[in-house]
Parts: sequence; C-alpha cells; structure tokens
Amino acid sequence: MRESAARVLPTHEVTNQPPPLPSIDLFEGDIALVEAVRRSGAESAEPHLKRSGKHAGDERVQDIARLAHRYQPELHAFDRFGHRQDAVEFHPAYHELMQLVFGDGVHSLAWTAREGGHAARTALSYIWNQADQGVNCPASMTYGAVKALRNHPPLSAALEPKILANAYDPRPIHFRDKSAITIGMAMTEKQGGSDLRATATVAVPAGDGEFGPEYLLTGHKWFCSAPMSDGFLTLARTEKGVTCFFLLRSLADGTRNPFFIQRLKDKLGNRSNASSEIEYADTRAIQIGDEGRGIPTLIEMAHLTRLETAISSAAIIRRALTEAIHHTRYRRTFQRALVDQPIMQSVLADVATESEAHLALTMRAAQAQDLAATDSTEALLSRFLVPLAKFWVCKRTPPLVAELLECFGGNGYVEEGLLARLYREAPLNGIWEGSGNVICLDLVRVLRREPQVRDALRGEIRVPGSATLNALWSEIDGLIDQVVADEQGARWLVERTAIAVQYSLLLRHAPDFVSDSFRASKIDRPHLTMGSLKADAALRRIVERAAVS
Ligand SMILES: Cc1cc2nc3c(=O)[nH]c(=O)nc-3n(C[C@H](O)[C@H](O)[C@H](O)COP(=O)(O)OP(=O)(O)OC[C@H]3O[C@@H](n4cnc5c(N)ncnc54)[C@H](O)[C@@H]3O)c2cc1C
Repeated sequence: MRESAARVLPTHEVTNQPPPLPSIDLFEGDIALVEAVRRSGAESAEPHLKRSGKHAGDERVQDIARLAHRYQPELHAFDRFGHRQDAVEFHPAYHELMQLVFGDGVHSLAWTAREGGHAARTALSYIWNQADQGVNCPASMTYGAVKALRNHPPLSAALEPKILANAYDPRPIHFRDKSAITIGMAMTEKQGGSDLRATATVAVPAGDGEFGPEYLLTGHKWFCSAPMSDGFLTLARTEKGVTCFFLLRSLADGTRNPFFIQRLKDKLGNRSNASSEIEYADTRAIQIGDEGRGIPTLIEMAHLTRLETAISSAAIIRRALTEAIHHTRYRRTFQRALVDQPIMQSVLADVATESEAHLALTMRAAQAQDLAATDSTEALLSRFLVPLAKFWVCKRTPPLVAELLECFGGNGYVEEGLLARLYREAPLNGIWEGSGNVICLDLVRVLRREPQVRDALRGEIRVPGSATLNALWSEIDGLIDQVVADEQGARWLVERTAIAVQYSLLLRHAPDFVSDSFRASKIDRPHLTMGSLKADAALRRIVERAAVS
C-alpha cells in the first residue's frame, strides 16, 4: 500500500518495519488457554471469557495502558492551604483501566462464578494481565482480601456486597456511601518484609465500634501499594503478638482515618500503580482472626495472591511472545521473514512451549484450589502447587521476556514499544507475595508438616507408560527426603518438581509436538539459553499454535 503524502519522509521510505499489532482476541485466539479452561472446571465462564478476550485485546486498551504507565501517579500529601490530604492523583487512563478491570470482575469472579471460580478468575486475570499489569495489583489484593475478611463475619457481611460489585468508584468516602470498594494490604515494614514476626506497629484497645472491639494502631509500613484503596488488611502487635487488622480510610462520621502517605516509591516498573510508604498514628482498626495469629490469617489471603502472581507472570510471557511472533512474521532479514529463520524459529518455539507449560501449571493450581474444599488430595495439591507455580513461573519470567525483547532487535529496547515495559515488569511478581527463597521455605514447610503431599504429587506427576516421568519422580522422591532433613537443597527440588508437573500436564493434555519439545528442552537436553531445540517440522507447528489470532 502506498503511504499517504503526509507520511512520506523527504530522505527515505520506511520499509520492513512491522505494522503495530492490531486488536486481537486474547481468549478465543489462544488455543492453549481455551483448552486449559475446558479441562479446569471453568467451562461455564466461557461466555464471560469470550467477551473479555475481545475487550482486553482491543488496540485502544493498549493505548490506555501506555498512557497510564507513561503519566505516573503523583502524591499530594497536602492541599494548597497546608492541610494534610494524603491523596494520590492518577492519569485518567489509570481510572479507565480500573473501571475496565473491576467492571469485568477480575477481583470478584472467583467468589461469584457458579463453578470453578478460581480457575475462571485465573483465566480472566491471564487475559487482562496481557493488557495491563498495573491495575492487577489492586484487583488481586481485593480478590484475596475476601478470604481474610471472612474471619470476621459481621464485617465481611457489610463489606462483601461492595467488594464483589463489578464496578469502580474512586471517591474517598465511607464504604456505605459507595457503589464499590477496593482493598489493599500493608504488611511490610522497614525492618522486615519476609519475616513479618518483626512487625513493630503497635495496636492498643480503643473500645467497641460498630463491628466489635476496635484498636488504635501506631507505626509505619514501608511498602503499601494502591494507597487510595478504601480499606487495608494490615498487621500490628498486641500483647498477645502479631495480629491481623482491617482499617478503613474513611470513617463512618465522615472523617479520614489517620493514614499518612509519606512518599511514593520511584519504581523500576509497575509505574501506573502507586506504591507508597505510610504511617499510622492512632489509626482506628478492627481485629481480624485470633489475636496473636495475624500471620496465619494473612497467609490464607497470600495463598490466593500468590496464585495471582503466577498467572500474572505467565501473562507477561504470553504477551511478549505474541508481540514477538507478530514482529518476526513481518520483519525480514537476509531474504527471509525472521520467523522462518531456523534459529529464530527455535527460539520462539522453545519460549512458546515453556509459556504453555506455565499456563498449564498455574491453571492446574487454580483448579486444585477450587476442588480443595471437597477433595483432600486436591487440597494437598493446592497447598503445594500454588507456591510451586509462584516460584517457578515468576522466576522464569525475566529471562524469557529478555529473550523475546531481543527478537525485536533495537526496537525492543525502546520505550515506545511494549517490550520495554514488560521487561521492567518482569521481576516484580518474583518479589512481592513472598520472594523466591521464602516460597521455597514455604514448600519445605508443607513437605514437613503434611507428608501426605508426597503421595498427592506422585499421583499428579506419574503418567502410565512414561519412563521419563517415572525416572523424574524417583529423583524427586529422593530429593524430598534430603530437603525435609535440610532446606539447603530446596531450590533444586522445587525446580525439578515444577518441570515434572509441567511435563506431566503437557503429556496428558497438549499435542505431542508440544510435550515432546518440552521434554527435549527441559529434561533430555536441558539448556541455559532458549533456542537449542533441534530443527524439525514441529517447531513451525508450535509457533503457529502459539500465535494469537
Ligand atoms: C513494587 C512493590 C510493591 C509492594 N507492595 C506491597 C504492599 O502493597 N504491601 C506489602 O505489605 N508489601 C509490599 N511490597 C513488599 C514486598 O512484599 C516485600 O518487599 C517482600 O515481601 C520482601 O520483603 P523485604 O523487602 O523486606 O525483603 P527481605 O525480607 O529482607 O528479603 C530479602 C531477600 O532475602 C530472602 N530471604 C528472606 N528470608 C530468607 C531465608 N530465611 N533464607 C533465604 N533467603 C531469605 C528473600 O527471599 C529475598 O530475596 C511491595 C514490594 C514491591 C517491590
């Protein structure tokens, strides 16, 4: 097509630059996702996912996300007269994204779906995380908060209708006057984020309020994302130890609860989402769960937000892969489309195979979460597979995104394209909700406290007739003995187990050319860089399967 006169440059013609990725269907255009939803008990959510896939894949959403990340939130600690206001101002694009994501129920679907709620929500989050990763933070905290708040039935009964509303209402007023609310969580303090037993914020009794005994909190939180949320789950120390509390930013009498936003973090990525440092000074809060049992109470919620980190990372890889396949189909080097160059094809096929394995593992963890209430084996699997996916998928995201960024050559390194943003986003899910080693320690804890998980894993990994999986299981069985005795080897055990579960899932559910490629890449001839798959016809089929239409 001839370029219009206004677009023609005086010095040269622009050629061999791919067109921008057009609107895509992030659900029906993604074969592996549709298959995963159908085998995870979330089929009834398909009509919803079909709508969301088209909506989130729309070109316009990409542009809104670009704006929200480009024009970052600003803190207004004081108004122009010097009164404290502790407000964060966002670009309108951020509010629009919040409207889209909360309007589509990314925070609520797990609790409102007829069946397979966690699997359905995980798929929905996979779709929306490919459009934007900034608003996924408030959406996932609001999703997880439901679990922790149910420890306080009267409070939960009052809040849940507003939490589960598929709407976004940013007004800083009391929750009863709002159509919808969002919930954050503030736990990390300067002296300890992983080791929350170091919590120094103090809670003192302050009489009875509408929902029972109340406390006044004094202290700080070193990281508090989405500080404009309506309420926060938090930790503070009482006489009996670290306890979970819930606080509202706006109180019933119309005043603001003391919640001082000291500054916003200047972050590597995740820039549309504000992350702050805050202080409490006689901040009114309601106790959640048993006194002195704050960490176990919040860990129930963290289990769900960890599932979210895994699917968010899988989505980041997926989006980068989609962009890379699009680019390499158009870009020509040395007389061929890049996608047809043998080494490039091997790189893309290798990443595509691993990307599908990450989706399969995370959807299986979500399915186990759904079945946990009625099936004890699934309960054990959920307890293990969620942190397993959190560790492994998040850990693999930075190197895979870096590889995909390189597929663009220099264009990949420039902020106007999406890859630079995905690259800056890539390490974050590995850090929050428990960093890598802490997740490994959690898995060691499961193996020590619930030894039956070994049988559940054996059943999940072994597939009749697969000598590869039998051999892998024997190795893992031995590693479990070692790690139960000494945590030192935990990372190797976790890596081997993740690969075994992923291969087992692909062998049972994916086409042979995908599972064979995974076995070659991760088990038979493991390699450190992507693209060492042997050239054969399967590579093209893998890339075609992964291309989103
Ligand atoms: C952008 C962003 C937003 C955030 N938002 C929030 C929020 O909204 N609310 C909130 O509460 N927190 C938030 N956090 C904080 C985050 O959860 C913590 O940073 C994280 O839990 C790690 O805690 P830490 O920073 O204190 O590191 P540390 O606890 O000091 O850990 C440092 C490293 O040591 C490792 N480590 C710790 N213990 C052991 C051990 N026993 N053996 C081996 N290795 C170990 C960890 O895995 C980690 O790699 C946010 C962080 C970021 C980056």
